Amino acid sequence: MNEKPRDLNDILAEVNSVIAVACKKSGRSTDDVEIIGVTKTHGPDVVREAWDAGIRIFGENRVQEAASKIPACGGGMDFHMIGHLQGNKIKVSLPLFSTFHAVDTLKLLENLELMSSEDGHRPEVLLEVNVSGEATKFGFMPEKIDEVIEKSLEMHNVTLTGLMTMAPFTPEIEDTRPVFAGLRELRDRLETKFDIGLPNLSMGMSNDYRIAVEEGATWLRLGTVLFGDRPKWKSQQEYRWEP
Ligand SMILES: *Cc1c(COP(=O)(O)O)cnc(C)c1O
Repeated sequence: MNEKPRDLNDILAEVNSVIAVACKKSGRSTDDVEIIGVTKTHGPDVVREAWDAGIRIFGENRVQEAASKIPACGGGMDFHMIGHLQGNKIKVSLPLFSTFHAVDTLKLLENLELMSSEDGHRPEVLLEVNVSGEATKFGFMPEKIDEVIEKSLEMHNVTLTGLMTMAPFTPEIEDTRPVFAGLRELRDRLETKFDIGLPNLSMGMSNDYRIAVEEGATWLRLGTVLFGDRPKWKSQQEYRWEP
């Protein structure tokens, strides 16, 4: 594992100044942009350090890892599931996460609704959209979204609060702009058509968050830029912590 290069407070100050410049450029308020600290593979110590530095939301992408980590963090933090969620993990994940970013099939949405009602949970969900149409990506094709929104409007336990996307990897960061702009335009169109609010746009990661902010991101999912390189993912056994 690489050592953390510098003090997290210094890194956050830099990231926040990038965000501030991007907000200014696009006429946005920094109040509308929040960093989600992506702590996957990192232990509770890293979560607590980030909490002390002012981060309030944490993103995890593996349910078993989060189930071990979250109780060991001491409470008060808001954890979001940002990764692909398998149907057989819904039940264990509901008590762990307030918000699910990567809802990418109607069946998953319906099962979240169903299992939430059984257990009395009220999760917020974002629909993951495959804006770029890349074959390898998870997420709804943009033209499928309308019927999913229609179905979601009949649900009582899950609340749809926005959209999420991942830009394809590109060495040329500007290439991500049409993807992020596309998600914002889709959101705007859906809000008008269905007369609903979809305030959350979860987009932008360590390499492309500046562009994402310029294009309207409200939740940035930042891992590497804050916490350094992640070790290569090992077996599940490596990610267990004592509560
Ligand atoms: C790991 C992960 C991130 C963070 O990626 P970095 O490049 O380390 O910032 C963001 N979103 C999702 C869905 C992830 O799995």
